[in-house]
Amino acid sequence: MKKETQIVSLGRDKKWTQGVINPPVVRASTMVFDTMEEMRFASKNKANGELFYGRRGGPTHFAFQAAISELEGGVGTALYPSGAAAISNALMSFLKAGDHLLMVDSAYEPTRALCDSLLAGFGVETTYYDPMIGAGIKDLIQDNTKVLFLESPGSITMEVQDVPTLSKIAHEHGIVVMLDNTWASPINSRPFDMGVDISIQAATKYIVGHSDVMMGTATANEAHWEQLRENSYLMGQCISPDDVYLASRGLRTLSVRMAQHEKNALQVANWLATRPEVDHLRHPAFESCPGHEFFKRDFTASNGLFSFVLKEGSSKALTALVENMKHFKMGFSWGGYESLILSVSGIDSIRTATTWDKSKPLIRLHIGLENPDDLIADLEAAFERFNAQQNK
Ligand SMILES: *Cc1c(COP(=O)(O)O)cnc(C)c1O
Repeated sequence: MKKETQIVSLGRDKKWTQGVINPPVVRASTMVFDTMEEMRFASKNKANGELFYGRRGGPTHFAFQAAISELEGGVGTALYPSGAAAISNALMSFLKAGDHLLMVDSAYEPTRALCDSLLAGFGVETTYYDPMIGAGIKDLIQDNTKVLFLESPGSITMEVQDVPTLSKIAHEHGIVVMLDNTWASPINSRPFDMGVDISIQAATKYIVGHSDVMMGTATANEAHWEQLRENSYLMGQCISPDDVYLASRGLRTLSVRMAQHEKNALQVANWLATRPEVDHLRHPAFESCPGHEFFKRDFTASNGLFSFVLKEGSSKALTALVENMKHFKMGFSWGGYESLILSVSGIDSIRTATTWDKSKPLIRLHIGLENPDDLIADLEAAFERFNAQQNK
């Protein structure tokens, strides 16, 4: 079955929907049983989409979990109140004091902060590695290395990693491979075919797709599902069925939104590539992006999120560029229907295994569902303001 067909039908088991189209919101903490026999059955099967207790989820959750597991290609999915919670729970479910973690240098900044603060405090040592390290990762593996964490493409700087090579080497050393797969969403790559053990989504982004819910998912393969599920349960992770309903509703239009985000973004990126102010694009579908060859091999499509690097730019000129835009608004997060712009500084201070030339400013864009001609006109005016300041 093709992904477009899957996202329409997945998770809509009659057991959970009772025959209506959208899995309904079922609000529940306590679930009751009439006999000891039923209670025993529920206890034994509490991880298999059977009612047990609210913290294990209910029909709204089960329907959505089944859909995400199938789309990502794993066997089970745990839900979290944010993408950040999915990352911290996945890591903490597989690491203990004395363990060593290999973390990609281009990781989402809060992931990095987690490693340097909480995980360090719990006695987990982190080594950051160059996202383009490939087979060189084997030189960084220690006897106590337990987890290899990837994010591809990386946050902000967009390096695409050689996931199959990294996974293969990790597995030769019994290391668990986790991937922050948010950029691909569950439809533009096959993480488990590339050797990933746990694939993480900030569902807040494209799955929800409407900038109104925080949510994270972590999907595991057979070998890692029980440990992820039980440890996340111990950490008390559960989310409201109302939020799940919205995510599940967002999911149904994921493929059409993604295709439009991609088309719009490519039009804007192609235009940016002709601008004299632009040094290069950090868009995985362009050759100037590190790891472009892995994008072509491992992804079926791109989306609305990319960055571009300017040849130069004073702080005043950058401010003039991003302020007073008509359609692009400044804001964190991405993956909604609206366009966003960010002038990102301080990248050099959140890279330790690689270097970043801070003399060349970086702008990150999320291209929404507006008509790209309007977005290009907005950016054209932004460059005019930028140049006026820069040439003062
Ligand atoms: C936004 C984001 C997260 C965190 O998700 P939240 O839902 O905001 O906690 C994690 N990873 C990546 C790549 C992200 O872009």
